[in-house]
Amino acid sequence: MGSRLVATLLLLYEETMLRHQAGPGHPERPARLAAVVDALSAARLPRAEWVAPRPAALDALTRIHHPEYVARLRELAGSHAQLDPDTGMGPDSQSAAWLAAGAAVDAVDAVVEGASRRAFALVRPPGHHAEARRGMGFCLLNNIAIAAAHAVAAHGCKRVLVVDWDIHHGNGTQHVFATRDDVLFFSTHRYPFYPGTGALEEVGRGAGAGFTFNVPMPWGLGDREYGAVFEQLLLPLADAYRPDLVLVSAGFDAHRDDPLGDQRVTEDGFAAMCGMVRDLADRHAGGRLVLFLEGGYDLSGLSRSARGCAEVLCGADPPQIRSALAETRDLVGRIQEVQGRYWPVFAPG
Ligand SMILES: [Zn+2]
Repeated sequence: MGSRLVATLLLLYEETMLRHQAGPGHPERPARLAAVVDALSAARLPRAEWVAPRPAALDALTRIHHPEYVARLRELAGSHAQLDPDTGMGPDSQSAAWLAAGAAVDAVDAVVEGASRRAFALVRPPGHHAEARRGMGFCLLNNIAIAAAHAVAAHGCKRVLVVDWDIHHGNGTQHVFATRDDVLFFSTHRYPFYPGTGALEEVGRGAGAGFTFNVPMPWGLGDREYGAVFEQLLLPLADAYRPDLVLVSAGFDAHRDDPLGDQRVTEDGFAAMCGMVRDLADRHAGGRLVLFLEGGYDLSGLSRSARGCAEVLCGADPPQIRSALAETRDLVGRIQEVQGRYWPVFAPG
């Protein structure tokens, strides 16, 4: 290992993750990941490297999940099961989930130890809805939470910034870090919407007060509004927090063509958001940045958005989006008012 910088972008993928079956007709289907892998294989990604992740070790999983839940998932290997009405497993789902969580661990190791500047975990099942004791919302293990906890426990990271731009609120990630100040959770999500959490007033508890930062958004917003939220909230927050590692729950279900969401973000909008996150990671975290595939259910919108982000992670200039500052004034103002109690940068002058 050591500090030899060999890649700009590590792409973590293993085909077992295509064999996870969530159930007949389920939107979280193997074709999603296949479309992303095809699009990235065809893209021009200078100094990108593909690597197969290893299955996660038990101790990496139990930093986040209860041992009884992990044991139950293990027992379901090879069989069909339904964890909740949305969340099913087939014979290969346990193997796929362990590889997705393993990709999270391997990606953190690679960017922290310097084998790669950035990484993109191309995984399914997705993770951000998974709670400590149960899977839900298509998610079995919380990949990004496992990554953040691994960064703190194994590498001594002290300020991990998690950005969740999936259209759904990352309830699992918020809950497992609610009382901690070493992981700052920033989420944009449609609200009210599945899973029902993510209100502005949910800010964390105890030592974690102010380290949960929710941006509940009305439906119908697009590139210019997301750009404004990132510019006016995420960037000042990150400059105040000075993260030493940046992780992204990169769901693409806020895309305008997505059948589950109702937002209007385009692939250019996602690439622009990725550019802002890349630059803040460069500014504060020595560039150390990992994206995790979460949702996104229109194959074309999903794969074009993932490709745009991968190109930005390899150094391409992000698209220029003019932020809708006036249109988001009320939304941003409400959030500044609540978070200004914890973050002086947002407190009224
Ligand atoms: Zn989602």
